[in-house]
Amino acid sequence: MQVDKDLIIIGGGAAGLSAAQYAARANLDVLVIEEMAAGGQCLIIGDLENYPGFPEPINGAEFAMLLEKQAKNFGANFLIGTAKSIAKEGDIYTIETSKGTYTTYAVILTTGAQHRKINVPGEKEFAGRGVSYCATCDGPFFKNKKMLVVGGGDAACDEASFLANLTDKVIMIHRRDKLRAQRSLAERVTKNPNIEVRYNTEIREIKGGMKVEGVVLEDNTSGETYEEEMDAVFVFIGSIPQTSLVPDVKKDEAGYIVTDQNMETENPGLYAAGDVRSSPFRQLVVAAGEGAIATHCASQRIDAIKGEAYE
Ligand code: NAP
Repeated sequence: MQVDKDLIIIGGGAAGLSAAQYAARANLDVLVIEEMAAGGQCLIIGDLENYPGFPEPINGAEFAMLLEKQAKNFGANFLIGTAKSIAKEGDIYTIETSKGTYTTYAVILTTGAQHRKINVPGEKEFAGRGVSYCATCDGPFFKNKKMLVVGGGDAACDEASFLANLTDKVIMIHRRDKLRAQRSLAERVTKNPNIEVRYNTEIREIKGGMKVEGVVLEDNTSGETYEEEMDAVFVFIGSIPQTSLVPDVKKDEAGYIVTDQNMETENPGLYAAGDVRSSPFRQLVVAAGEGAIATHCASQRIDAIKGEAYE
């Protein structure tokens, strides 16, 4: 049966763009469906300093542009639109999008993950008015002001370090008595004189008028709560994988898609790569590698269906 595209990739972050580049370079007719601008989480990284091959930090958005350009140079096609559903009949997948319906032999899901919310009073009300999920985007608005960072993982440490270049008043709170982050990132925070880390501390409320003016914090060892003036609250408490397109696909306890080592889900021809996939380490370099593996394995399936497999 004739299909519209050999391969469809849903999501244009590092995993999707790497998958697209490998697919186009392997001469597959590939379409990347992306809701907004390609780049995913790269777009909110200020200085990307741990991607192999870039000894000097590179701006995340600039890096995303390079990934997209490289995929396009090899002939990948892009559709700006929303994927609404994935259906399968025989070997063929049908993707319904806001811009039409496409059939394909294989699908790679690279839909990533979204910021988790703290769900305290004031978080929603002050979003964009002092509550933020991106230090690089919003930190400069609060230069020399007092900022709270919530979280104890890699993202919280990275972002707190970034904010500490803008002010000497960064308070980082974590609900446990030690940071979850990689040691190198954690030490950068604990040794930074502009960052005060408060352990066993949780946020209970964000207060203010037109904008954030204060927070209510709780020492979870004593249960004591106290109010403190604050100009901004930056939340980095992990992410929620974007899996609504595949409600029935196997997930791990945290909701990330489970695949085999070929990045293939339990559904033959449906692959997942990057932050949406169950993995011990979510990094750009990992996402890019997973995208490449997914495409490589998908291409073997595509060749087999087309009768072009190397026996
Ligand atoms: P994460 O590793 O899941 O850490 C989330 C942190 O938020 C944990 O410390 C967690 O506390 C805390 N948390 C979760 N829910 C909370 C709540 N409701 N209230 C208060 N605190 C809460 O998430 P991440 O830091 O966003 O990192 C995600 C992935 O991206 C990781 O794989 C990480 O390695 C990667 N990443 C890497 C870099 C880098 O290498 N430079 C930078 C950013 C992200 P508990 O510890 O108590 O669970």
